[in-house]
Amino acid sequence: MRITPGLAGVRGDVDVLVVGLGVTGAGVALDAATRGLSVLAVDAHDLAFGTSRWSSKMVHGGLRYLAKGQVGVAHESAVERGILMEVTAPHLTRSMPMLIPITSSMSRLQGGLSRAGLRAGDLLRRGARTDAETLPGPRHLSATETLAMAPSLRAAGLRGGLLGWDGQLEDDARLVITLARTAAEHGAQVRTRARVLSAAHGEVRLRDETTGSEVVVRARAIVNAAGVWADQVLGEEGSRTDGIRLRPSRGTHLVLRAESVPDLRASVFAPVPGETNRFVMVLPQPDGTVYVGLTDEPAPGPVPDVPEPTETEIGFLLDVVSAAFARPLHRSDVVGAFAGLRPLLDGGDGSTADLSRKHAVITGPSGVTTVVGGKLTTYRRMAQDAVDAAVAHHGLAAGPCVTASLPLLGAASRTELAALEEPARLVRRYGTDAALVLSSAREVTGLSDAELLATVSDTVPVTLAELVFGITHEGALDVDDLLDRRTRVGLVAEDRAAAVPLAERALALTRT
Ligand SMILES: Cc1cc2nc3c(=O)[nH]c(=O)nc-3n(C[C@H](O)[C@H](O)[C@H](O)COP(=O)(O)OP(=O)(O)OC[C@H]3O[C@@H](n4cnc5c(N)ncnc54)[C@H](O)[C@@H]3O)c2cc1C
Repeated sequence: MRITPGLAGVRGDVDVLVVGLGVTGAGVALDAATRGLSVLAVDAHDLAFGTSRWSSKMVHGGLRYLAKGQVGVAHESAVERGILMEVTAPHLTRSMPMLIPITSSMSRLQGGLSRAGLRAGDLLRRGARTDAETLPGPRHLSATETLAMAPSLRAAGLRGGLLGWDGQLEDDARLVITLARTAAEHGAQVRTRARVLSAAHGEVRLRDETTGSEVVVRARAIVNAAGVWADQVLGEEGSRTDGIRLRPSRGTHLVLRAESVPDLRASVFAPVPGETNRFVMVLPQPDGTVYVGLTDEPAPGPVPDVPEPTETEIGFLLDVVSAAFARPLHRSDVVGAFAGLRPLLDGGDGSTADLSRKHAVITGPSGVTTVVGGKLTTYRRMAQDAVDAAVAHHGLAAGPCVTASLPLLGAASRTELAALEEPARLVRRYGTDAALVLSSAREVTGLSDAELLATVSDTVPVTLAELVFGITHEGALDVDDLLDRRTRVGLVAEDRAAAVPLAERALALTRT
């Protein structure tokens, strides 16, 4: 099965219909398909159109939940991190050194808490049985060692550093796309540009956004994985009776060129001045950029398709990082900025529950199973819980969940991945499928490897081969799909503009 835009030829009767193809919905589609259920999974826009492409791209060990006394949630996160990094997607993840600079302006309490936090994080790793080869233990660094890892840190007042390890994703959207491809490989029908207009009592009305035509599909179970839009999918009446009312809060990141904070060999957790245990993260990326995040601002009112960062958030992030680094950052250092929405579950009585910690799975009177909240790291467990709930509620005949031991397409051990001969960028983004990306692009276009692997420019590493593969194997329909989700060049407007001609060429070459 191929991922396809629109609803042409779709089966009108399925076991499970999944609404939303973010990481949660793609995970649900894979979980249900590998239990032997027939699946139709749809997204109103594109794969990874929503919150899943606006994350910090970290595979969390759950430390911050431990800090809040939520031991069970922290353990679950650490277990899922281990599964993702060691079994299901070693090709899309790597270990990320994280450095907390210890300065003379840091209080004893702040230093002590940071040290205790990293030690507790290592206990979580051990409890989850994740190998120390995957995530080494924490250690204390001298000021000289700290500056060797992050030479652009402010040296004055630097007493040393704390070094810990967590997981990092190559790209959040790529995880979603790989999940969707794997689900399709196991028989799921995966359709983009397919909007759910209503869903209740086993009947789903959908609109094909490529043609405007509407279809009704009968589904024995419906799983609503529409993220911050989950209440809209249920409609006014359904969201009230099912008890799903969401109030989003916004998290913003900046994108800088690597030259703005030169030679970073670790992510840096810069303490927010005046606060005991709050940090802004400076996260180097493999494509020559660095992300700076994260804010947490209420975002009342209608939920936008694409949330926008505010100048106040941008100013706050620049100020915190400038206080920790030798050269102050300016607005002109910011080459891109993006924001994502976290769901808060509105209790209706003025109370809210922050679902960014523990996810919720609710099957309401509409018969729809809504799964919302959680995080990228725990998508697999969320999918398992949602499919378990739907199967139990509707009495479906399904096999047990197998996803904890099911490698995604392209996965292999780190030793096998290191031995592959394809270009490093392709291996990081497609694993063992790097060869398929190149061979299929060769076959479709008739072009030479030199032309297929030429990058847009020295600073824009995107190649024609990946764009062609995005169209032929990953359901990309237009330039936006290619530049904003199949690749992430769209995060920097200047780079995006440079890549548009190559995306248009890929579309022209694949047009039949
Ligand atoms: C700023 C920020 C940073 C984060 N960083 C991290 C991190 O570093 N690590 C981590 O583990 N987690 C992180 N998270 C959490 C994580 O990103 C989210 O929990 C996760 O991406 C949510 O995925 P989802 O699939 O539930 O929702 P979404 O990704 O929002 O997917 C919902 C999908 O539903 C579709 N949809 C909506 N309405 C309809 C309809 N009517 N018909 C069909 N489709 C529809 C949308 O188009 C969308 O694609 C972060 C979250 C935020 C906000």
